[in-house]
Amino acid sequence: MVQDEVRAEVEEDRRNKMVAMYQQGAWTSPTNLLCWGLSDTTACQLCNKRGTLEHILSCCPKALSEGRYRWRHDQVLRALADIVSTAVINCKYQHTPKKSITFVRAGEKAQQRQSPLGGLLNTAQDWKLQVDLGRQLKFPEYILSTSLRPDMVITSDASKQVVLVELTVPWEDRMEEAHERKRAKYAEIVVECRNKGWKARCEPVEVGCWGFAGQSLPRTLKLLGVKGQLCRRAIKTIIEAAEKASRWLWIQRGDPWSSGQLGHKSGADHPRLGRLSEGV
Ligand SMILES: [Zn+2]
Repeated sequence: MVQDEVRAEVEEDRRNKMVAMYQQGAWTSPTNLLCWGLSDTTACQLCNKRGTLEHILSCCPKALSEGRYRWRHDQVLRALADIVSTAVINCKYQHTPKKSITFVRAGEKAQQRQSPLGGLLNTAQDWKLQVDLGRQLKFPEYILSTSLRPDMVITSDASKQVVLVELTVPWEDRMEEAHERKRAKYAEIVVECRNKGWKARCEPVEVGCWGFAGQSLPRTLKLLGVKGQLCRRAIKTIIEAAEKASRWLWIQRGDPWSSGQLGHKSGADHPRLGRLSEGV
């Protein structure tokens, strides 16, 4: 436990430092441009506004309307969904911890035994995961009728639990804002579900477009029962998806975009990206 605490603190420090560094860097865009590999123009080639990194990776109205940010969001969502889906499958087989009798010596207190697994997914056997990839998700009508589509809905009918997970891939400065906005957006659904007798919760998750995970990511994974090494590996996979997708958006910043062009790829095996990532 002590080691975990120390590690968490070191990790937090490291993260703060990195974020501070990139904020300094954000003011000196030529450095960033160099770091991200080559830039020759200063204007956004899509909308002609000032083409800062922030603009191109997060604020360009044309890129937004063309679905570029949506594409990146879905790359990250797919990575997150894979992990949750695996957790759902694994939990099915180890749902109930064995009950055992605990003997307590005279004068000692009985220790509260927790499930060795822990996590929401270990509290039921019948979890179902729905993911809003390709704008397919329909909120389960038997729970509630709503036009809102969270990115993930995880339900257990037997235990009447529903978890909404909403992912945002914002510019790193705006992680907190995104968190609050998403929480507010789904607050009403959560209340309505609860009124209908469901244990409901909404977990907004932010993964910054530079590949820094908000605290909400490990928190949500742990809540679901993805812990320890699994959790660390999951975070790595997810932030890599964000970083790769952003890099791809940067490389494609002046090129025409069609949302289907890459299919399920994140551009990782594209020769141009491969070369570039070696240099970064
Ligand atoms: Zn633009």
